[in-house]
Amino acid sequence: MQSETRQCKRCKENFTLEPDDFSFYEKMKVPVPGICPTCRFKMRAVFRNERTLYKRTCGLCNRSIITMYSPNSPYTVYCNDCFISDKWDPYSYAIDYDPSKPFSEQLKELTIKVPKSATYSSTYVGPNINSEYCNFAGGNKDCYLIFNSGPGNENCAYSRGIIWSRDVFDIYYGDKIENCNECINTHNSNGIILGQNISDCIDSRFVLNCSGCTNCFGSVNLRHKSYHFFNKPLSRDEWLKRVSAISGSYEKTEEMKQKFSEFSLKFPRRENNNLKITNCFGDYIFESKNCYQCFEVSFGEDMRYSFSVKRGKDCADMIGHCRSSELLYNGVGVGAGSRNVICSWWVESSQDVAYSFATRQSQNCFGCDGIKNGSFVILNKKYSKEEYQKVKNDIIEELKSKDVYGDFFPAELAFFAYNETIGQDNKPLTREQALAEGFRWEDEIQKTEGKETLKAEDIPDHIKDVEDSILDEVLSCIKCFRNYRLIRRELEFYRKMLIPIPRKCWNCRFTDRITRRGPYKFWNRACAKCQKEITTNYPPERADGSSVRAGSPEPIVYCEKCYQQEVY
Ligand SMILES: [Zn+2]
Ligand SMILES: [Zn+2]
Ligand SMILES: [Zn+2]
Ligand SMILES: [Zn+2]
Repeated sequence: MQSETRQCKRCKENFTLEPDDFSFYEKMKVPVPGICPTCRFKMRAVFRNERTLYKRTCGLCNRSIITMYSPNSPYTVYCNDCFISDKWDPYSYAIDYDPSKPFSEQLKELTIKVPKSATYSSTYVGPNINSEYCNFAGGNKDCYLIFNSGPGNENCAYSRGIIWSRDVFDIYYGDKIENCNECINTHNSNGIILGQNISDCIDSRFVLNCSGCTNCFGSVNLRHKSYHFFNKPLSRDEWLKRVSAISGSYEKTEEMKQKFSEFSLKFPRRENNNLKITNCFGDYIFESKNCYQCFEVSFGEDMRYSFSVKRGKDCADMIGHCRSSELLYNGVGVGAGSRNVICSWWVESSQDVAYSFATRQSQNCFGCDGIKNGSFVILNKKYSKEEYQKVKNDIIEELKSKDVYGDFFPAELAFFAYNETIGQDNKPLTREQALAEGFRWEDEIQKTEGKETLKAEDIPDHIKDVEDSILDEVLSCIKCFRNYRLIRRELEFYRKMLIPIPRKCWNCRFTDRITRRGPYKFWNRACAKCQKEITTNYPPERADGSSVRAGSPEPIVYCEKCYQQEVY
């Protein structure tokens, strides 16, 4: 079979279908999609609000809760304990499929009636203990504001995409790390502050593309080095003297950020940020093989068009989770030993499920919401095996006749506004664009401003001069003016690691890391050394030489081969 070009029925751009795509769709018994990978991602992403959280009360027990559902949305929201309890019956909302009405309309009616879980909390990887402000997370202890994370995290905050980590704050994508702060794509490391693309390193600050290093500061592309300062070896005493003159001071740290960013541009970068991979195309792929157009995928095999997933095999078009699952297609938060699940949202430990939401430990569910331990269920109504097959086939025929079978849920079913979701982080749209694409937009995202009791300029420069009383203060972000507070464990961490108090709120720190990570996009450009064509998430230079990535100078990007010659 050959690759084929088609026109996307949403954005009208051309996209390519590869031979491996065709064989996957055949295996999943779904038609070849008429929507391009980018539009498919946006359709799923609008169902994934990770960090726009609201205060509400549980619709069952009335306790006050943190939830991803805006008070402006039409849903009944239960606290996570009530949601997983037997205090309510999902089958009581059953709808009889009416062939004279569109299936999507009936599914929408069902999702508006069935109560929602305040946050997405995976039941498979263990409960979240003392970690109420976490979302799309499971199996975490004493964590605060972490997303798409778990299991095995303890005492972590303000992070996304972390597993098996301890005492880390402000991390984007990492596993098995400890005592780290402001890191991106960091693995098997301890004591890393301001690191990116790091593996097997210890006690290092301002490091980029390093592995096997100990006590390095301001270093790029180093392998198995110690006591280096801006890539030059120093005596231990001299290194300690220089580093301790900087660590802990806000002013000196900011100065060093600027200096390091200029310094790092003198060195070539790899075309991608993948680590320990075989035959992969994409970026931020870690310990995986045969992944195609994937981004932030760890321990994956034969994965296609997937984002932020771990331990999946033979899946395509997934966002989040996967874990010990195979044959998943077009899903959000589907995983935990699932098999043959298509076009679904939060399905765990289930088989043969399609177009369903919050479905756990179930088999043969189609168009369900909130079902657990179910089998042969359609629109929350139980059927005999034979009836199930018949009604299911009728719905599939209806969807095929409308050319939408295999497409994700239509935008009008989305639980969230586009700008509440990871869609906005990874494929940003303006309000007008989002509305034109059929998504909702939230004009009033809850945030507090103007309540600060301590101005940024009055925070002591050095962490050693910060007193416990700062925990009672309300701070104001120097970028967005949103009010934020420190938590005790965070302050203790900054003191232990000699890190100054952040002057930006956690949300701005988060979006800054997305900028440092670079866009979820693949461009073709030429290797700066051998001119071979490479694929990278560094935008190509404009004809006038200016950078497309606003505000940052142009990096030197090498192909893998040229990079390896330079570094090892
Ligand atoms: Zn498109
Ligand atoms: Zn409750
Ligand atoms: Zn802010
Ligand atoms: Zn090259």
